[in-house]
Amino acid sequence: MNVNQQPHMATPYGQPQPGYQGYPQPGYGGDHVPSGYPAQYAPYNGPGSAYQQGPPQGTRGPPTSGAPPVSGAQNYSQFGQGENQNGPPPMGPLPSTQSSFPRPPHPTSQPSAFPAGPPPTSIPSQLPGVMQPQPPVSQPSPYHSGPPTTSTGFPPQVGAPPRPSFPGMQGPPMASQGPPMASQGPPMASQGPPMAQANHILPTQPGMPPGPINASLSGPPPQPGMQGYPPQQNGAFGQVRGPQPGYTGPYPGQPNYGAPPAAPASAPAAPKRLDPDSIPSPIQVIEDDKANKGSEPFTTGVRGQAPPLVTTKFQVKDQGNASPRYIRCTAYNMPCNSDMAKQSQVPLAAVIKPLAPLPPDETPPYLVDHGESGPIRCNRCKAYMCPYMQFIEGGRRFQCGFCNCVTEVPPNYFQHLDHTGKRVDCYDRPELSMGSYDFMTTVDYCKNNKFPQPPAFIFLIDVSYNAVKNGTVGIVCQELKTLLDYLPRENPDVESNIRVGFVTYNKVLHFYNVKASLAQPQMMVVSDVADMFVPLLDGFLVSVSESRVVIESLLDQIPEMFADTRETETVFGPVIQAGLEALKAADCAGKLFVFHSSLPIAEAPGKLKNREDKKLVGTDKEKTLFQPQVSFYNTLAKECVAQGCCVDLFLFPNQYVDVATLGVVPTSTGGSIYKYTYFQAPSDQERFLNDLRRDVQKQVGFDAVMRVRTSTGIRATDFFGAFYMSNTTDVELAGLDCDKTVTVEFRHDDKLSEETGALMQCAVLYTSCSGQRRLRIHNMAVNCCSQLADLYRNCETDTIINFFAKYAYRSVLSSPTKNVRDSLVNQCAQILACYRKNCASPSSAGQLILPECMKLLPVYLNCVLKSDVLQPGADVSLDDRAYLRQLVSTMDVAESHVFFYPHLLPLQKLDVESMALPMAVRDSEERLSRGGVYLLENGLNIFLWVGVSAQQELLQNIFGTPAFSQIDPNMTSLPALDNPFSKRLREIIESVRAQRSRYMKLMVVKQEDKLELIFKHFLVEDKSNSGGASYVDFLCHMHKEIRQLLS
Ligand SMILES: [Zn+2]
Repeated sequence: MNVNQQPHMATPYGQPQPGYQGYPQPGYGGDHVPSGYPAQYAPYNGPGSAYQQGPPQGTRGPPTSGAPPVSGAQNYSQFGQGENQNGPPPMGPLPSTQSSFPRPPHPTSQPSAFPAGPPPTSIPSQLPGVMQPQPPVSQPSPYHSGPPTTSTGFPPQVGAPPRPSFPGMQGPPMASQGPPMASQGPPMASQGPPMAQANHILPTQPGMPPGPINASLSGPPPQPGMQGYPPQQNGAFGQVRGPQPGYTGPYPGQPNYGAPPAAPASAPAAPKRLDPDSIPSPIQVIEDDKANKGSEPFTTGVRGQAPPLVTTKFQVKDQGNASPRYIRCTAYNMPCNSDMAKQSQVPLAAVIKPLAPLPPDETPPYLVDHGESGPIRCNRCKAYMCPYMQFIEGGRRFQCGFCNCVTEVPPNYFQHLDHTGKRVDCYDRPELSMGSYDFMTTVDYCKNNKFPQPPAFIFLIDVSYNAVKNGTVGIVCQELKTLLDYLPRENPDVESNIRVGFVTYNKVLHFYNVKASLAQPQMMVVSDVADMFVPLLDGFLVSVSESRVVIESLLDQIPEMFADTRETETVFGPVIQAGLEALKAADCAGKLFVFHSSLPIAEAPGKLKNREDKKLVGTDKEKTLFQPQVSFYNTLAKECVAQGCCVDLFLFPNQYVDVATLGVVPTSTGGSIYKYTYFQAPSDQERFLNDLRRDVQKQVGFDAVMRVRTSTGIRATDFFGAFYMSNTTDVELAGLDCDKTVTVEFRHDDKLSEETGALMQCAVLYTSCSGQRRLRIHNMAVNCCSQLADLYRNCETDTIINFFAKYAYRSVLSSPTKNVRDSLVNQCAQILACYRKNCASPSSAGQLILPECMKLLPVYLNCVLKSDVLQPGADVSLDDRAYLRQLVSTMDVAESHVFFYPHLLPLQKLDVESMALPMAVRDSEERLSRGGVYLLENGLNIFLWVGVSAQQELLQNIFGTPAFSQIDPNMTSLPALDNPFSKRLREIIESVRAQRSRYMKLMVVKQEDKLELIFKHFLVEDKSNSGGASYVDFLCHMHKEIRQLLS
């Protein structure tokens, strides 16, 4: 071991560093930050201030203004008495204008409160051989207060499948079942008369067989009501759908939208190519959902109601179940028993984003304090107090909605019940009336029964030759000087509690003492990396404000010190160990930010060798490429999790760095990986800096443990995401930030009941950035069904795809990719075959019939199948695949949706007068017009595709030149031209960027240019050059698979 203490500092301190002039100084909160970015976070800082001081930006007023209690102190002051002090009388529905947290007009608290709708309708089971109306569109509308659905909606003579009995639903109205979908395959006429009426479709004779399967090839038979949009549109809502604001009409490339009966695909035997316009269109489904569900708030009080799609902009009102921003489910109507679940093969899963940021117009979760004894919980299953607990015996005890155990109500929590059996303070307490809230915890919830120290951030900067040369050392140091003023905090007016520390490294490590009392920083070198330790305790982790001068001096000097380095080798394992040891020594949790450039080949623990071998791709050994090459990092990850040490890794590779191995610690600790291959400061700096700023500033909880409790009958059996598990129930996350999701799969272990539905409660215990130990609770109830048709009526395909992608991307660690693809296809075929067999018309076996809410399953599944991880092209590196694999594992549904099916906007249709975007077009080359300019975005990249004959005016407006040939394909930002089109387009790009968790670099692609190959990779409805099928071909393939299963 060799520790050198060098009271060094070659550079005079305080002097400006001329070398930095080239880097634009970021302006925080100023013009340089993409618009929307700070705003996006501001609300999240809300809860802290909301809890502790005054009114949040939500609807809830300050405690003194008559709002319900938000803090323990207030709660306590009014136990047993002052409901009046707490604002509006808690009984009965309250007008929405009241300044208090949103009050559900109907109690959503206990399961028993749900059945406001009709009792479960039992309908004679379907008669074989009788024409079957296809179960209608996805979900009942939350906006509709029409008559409850009953079997009367479908006259028995048409053999109606059980209408949604939805126990407890506020009466899913027929009309809201949505229009009969063309994707149902058979002509609309086969729909039951009521549906037809609802959709302005002339009823035809019940029992008429479905249309011929080749209908779409030979031209559809006359379909009353099938012209244009209406059949797929909100005709069901009694409105005729007009053009969306901002669209000038359907895209010319898609003239016949909705015209043919959608899903009937041709039999594989059909020699003629299937018309792409006749198969279900993602754009159509997205637009329909926007039209049907985007205009009114989504209230969460009704059990089992599928939310609007992730592509629809909507507001959420928490009325007893978690917002879809926190939890989305694959199925909102779960099968009652495992036989049904197995038969259908529909995955039962929830994608949970516990700390999701909310838009400014939604109220952040309230903080609830149950005082010294901590949150009130069920004695048996330990579920936390929530709307699913039912108070009995005059309020003295409560029965757990999850396990049915009865627990005494502590005296200080006692409250009387009203005549409906509900506590009279129900609406004053978030934990009795809302889907999501936070609990303050007690010392019992802390590690070692000790309140946590505030967390620390440690920056570990690679200063080897590559890192210096590509400019990252200078960029990082320059940026940190300002970024450190923006560390996460709960109260924007108070300085962050987070302490910071700095390490640089190549094949040795340099620790810095930046104690405030020092005149200048001190460096300590540890060159024995075999047994990493931290050579200084005092002065390593410091407060930014106290040590500002010393820190700035250090950051100025680091690039100078290593400017002439010849050291090319790096270590990596010891770097993480150093950060971990520093956190251990300080007895706190925290986050490491590692900026790394090369394969760590220097002699040290965790040393790696270059094992890139593309010959293994497609073989049975391919899986080894996704596995870490040494077990060292798994062990290290486990130690990190135990300490609450989250690792974020920024990679700047020029060649293979083994992301599969380097990513083990980040992906096991709730961290993130960012990769900037062939980083070049001029073109990539903006992207890196935006990512870094967001990553440092974002809300994060530390030392988190997540547990999902469920009602008897199902349980959480599998988990996907960036975390570590040491047992079968606790998801441990050293860090959990606002972008991370955990996908949870459920399986039956008993029967569920239609009456009580299936309940889940996700509880995340974490240390906030101010060092408080808290619990975030999300409650979710879905319906249960005993008829398969009900299951197929209420699924969310985007969530199913999120689950399948994560499942498949994990499976490549243990199985050949071909097997993974085959089993995905097989499972989807089974899902659709089960529907075909049990829910759809038994006749016309040659026809492909898709359930309405799954009509996009084939197209999206195909996107997953031909993604770079599962079916790479020759140009995709192993590191890229490992990177994407890890990235997808933590994506939420919105991110996975756009990642697999990119958003493609025709800019020639942009109306600068309107705030609305033009309607997107399908991801296929044949949808691109040579005269147009298109924006394509998938959450990681933005492309601007310019057609060779793009209108001169358009080019002039965007690029400032009318000539196609003069457009510079190397530009990464558009010129700021003084015309409305340029302004609007740049706004759109900024707002798209602000929606995503990673900054997207703009690439300009000129038609017929060589870069176009990259762009075409994202046209996912087309055949891919790696052998991936086109959408049309894949649909035919799926059809064949389904037919095989049915025969
Ligand atoms: Zn319980």
